[in-house]
Amino acid sequence: MNIAMKLVLVVNSGSSSLKYQLLNMEDESCLAKGNCDRIGIGGHVKHQVPSTGYEYSEDCVFPTHTEAFEKLVEVLTTGENRVIDSMAEISAVGHRIVQGAEIFNKACLVTEEVIEKIDGLSELAPVHNHPHVLALRACSKVLPKSIPQVVVFDTAFHQTMPPKAYLFGLPYEDYEKYAVRKYGFHGTSHRFVSARLAKAMERDISELKIVSCHLGNGSSITAVDGGKSVDTSMGFTPLDGIIMGTRCGAVDPSAVTYVMDKHGFNAHEMSEYMNKKSGFLGLSGVSSDNRDVCKAAAEGDKRAALTTEILKYQIKKYIGAFSAAMNGLDAVLFTGGIGENSWEVREGVCENMEFLGIRLDREANRQAKGELVKISAPDSRAEVWVVPTNEELLIARDTISLISESCQ
Ligand code: ADP
Repeated sequence: MNIAMKLVLVVNSGSSSLKYQLLNMEDESCLAKGNCDRIGIGGHVKHQVPSTGYEYSEDCVFPTHTEAFEKLVEVLTTGENRVIDSMAEISAVGHRIVQGAEIFNKACLVTEEVIEKIDGLSELAPVHNHPHVLALRACSKVLPKSIPQVVVFDTAFHQTMPPKAYLFGLPYEDYEKYAVRKYGFHGTSHRFVSARLAKAMERDISELKIVSCHLGNGSSITAVDGGKSVDTSMGFTPLDGIIMGTRCGAVDPSAVTYVMDKHGFNAHEMSEYMNKKSGFLGLSGVSSDNRDVCKAAAEGDKRAALTTEILKYQIKKYIGAFSAAMNGLDAVLFTGGIGENSWEVREGVCENMEFLGIRLDREANRQAKGELVKISAPDSRAEVWVVPTNEELLIARDTISLISESCQ
């Protein structure tokens, strides 16, 4: 195995897509990235080489993840815009896996047993885990056996939550029998940004109480106490917590059975309604995209304005709740597409939070866009920061450190 080169391929697979990034871990730069999507329903590849600005896209035929993986190999290794000559130059592949449940509390090397365990968790994450397994198998089929594969779990960071945070008020037997509990998601992102924030604050993370707000199409908020997740807003699935692009977030469970009854929905239809038709889209009637909703609100659309109000209010409540859970607050961080870019959302969330020691520097907040920057006033007791996330980079770091360990 060639670990001197330190090239890591990071794969993020869905049921019909295979997103990838090839990272050079010498300087943590991205050599190429792209997406093979429409797997099973056609096929399309979009490929970019950031250093040269080269972009390529093509309709393809991807009956399964294997053909998509073969295309990924082709675009990386052939033609005048290739970034490597052969996949043998790659040190390892790191896969993002959504659900690791209580089985996986950290990244691990892929073996047949690991693949089977991930597949065994498919019932807990039907949309994600089985497609991950298809990508893992496709990768094993297409790449040389000598290239190690590593799996990094979205849920792993949250395995430090205590039972009082992760148990629901349902009969305990169903936790034991069916593993019904809060797992939390976006763990890789929360771990990455909270560590990055501690470094920026020049503090040891073990001393910090941080509320990490990852706000994107999917959003979650995590209480990070001493570098460990102690509570988080997403739950058994990534549907819980605050309103998102098309997801409803937390609702009274009785409202779910009532709506099912009124619409005559079965369980699958109700799940589609809550996952795909709710959130910003369902509330505003405008769009699932925060930019469209904010624009409509600025133009006077009342439902759009209400949607942004609800979003800000719900985030605010989590900051309060998690500060109470941690008995203190040293910093709030914003990340994800909305967290990094929307000054309006950050301003609305941080308004009237002086009681918690939060005072925003309004000008710094308005200027901040996509870079690591402090946006609280100098006299703010709790600091507020924008911290860009990079889940692929953390997956690649975990992958390199795991294969280096296993080589020793
Ligand atoms: P995902 O969760 O799919 O990774 P992102 O983290 O990319 O999504 O976040 C997408 C969200 O970020 C969308 O709602 C989008 O409107 C919002 N967003 C992206 N750029 C901006 C911006 N400049 N201003 C406000 N919102 C933005």
